[in-house]
Amino acid sequence: MEVVTGVDRIRSIVAAAKAKGRVVGVVPTMGFFHRGHLELMRVAREECDLVVVTLFVNPAQFGPGEDLDDYPRDFENDRRLADEAGVDYLFSPPREEMYPEGFCTAVKVEGLSSVMCGESRPCHFGGVATVVATLFNTVPAQRAYFGEKDAQQLVIIRRMAKDLDFPVEIVGVPTVREPDGLAMSSRNAYLSEEERKAASVLHSALQVAARLIDEGEASAFRIEDAMREVVEREPLVRLEYISICDNIYLSPLQELSGEVLVALAARLGKARLIDNMLFRVNW
Ligand code: AMP
Repeated sequence: MEVVTGVDRIRSIVAAAKAKGRVVGVVPTMGFFHRGHLELMRVAREECDLVVVTLFVNPAQFGPGEDLDDYPRDFENDRRLADEAGVDYLFSPPREEMYPEGFCTAVKVEGLSSVMCGESRPCHFGGVATVVATLFNTVPAQRAYFGEKDAQQLVIIRRMAKDLDFPVEIVGVPTVREPDGLAMSSRNAYLSEEERKAASVLHSALQVAARLIDEGEASAFRIEDAMREVVEREPLVRLEYISICDNIYLSPLQELSGEVLVALAARLGKARLIDNMLFRVNW
């Protein structure tokens, strides 16, 4: 595996591979790899001839007072893990390669970016959309891999790719979890031992939703109520939102039907955790 830091170099590598008829896959990340990232790399490796992982802690998606400076980083370990996962190129640009002097363009996916996590993080998805659009031009892969763990991000990127006509297929990869159900996240490193135990309550709430839906419950209100009760039993966890919505427009549902996203966010000590499950409801 080669580490590439320059935009021109990675673009020419990808162009040369495509000219030879190869399928290129890109996995955008902010590093500090865990099994969730490795699963994206594994799927990309299985489906593509050439795999590029991007590692860039994108300042534009952190709001004022958020954890940009503290965000966990371990480049040497990431390099080793990506290499072991069979990645061909690790593109790890310095900030000035992604945002050269004078950079002042922003991509905003209206509406979808201001609900759910966008309520408490109003700049976040604009920062994500802008950097991912830039990466799609810098690493013009045919396939791009994103985790379902960040469900709202996935909806926004699908929308952006469709609206701006990026010739890339967006592939969603199911969430990888710890044995107790906690979704793997670089930010889990912020949790104390006690908080780490409490964190599994997010998954427990989603399991309650899954059970109710399985039993035929169609009322979003009743499902949300039951989830809230589970989370509130854990005093360390401060629930931010529960959203029960469709998976394209993120419009809140009253009655469940079609593809339903059940998502929640909570604060736990220094960490802000999100999780979700997708359901296909056929009644
Ligand atoms: P991040 O480095 O946190 O920005 O994440 C990079 C990519 O990995 C994003 O597409 C995430 O959705 C995905 N990802 C993060 N955690 C998980 C997980 N537990 N399971 C699957 N994908 C994940």
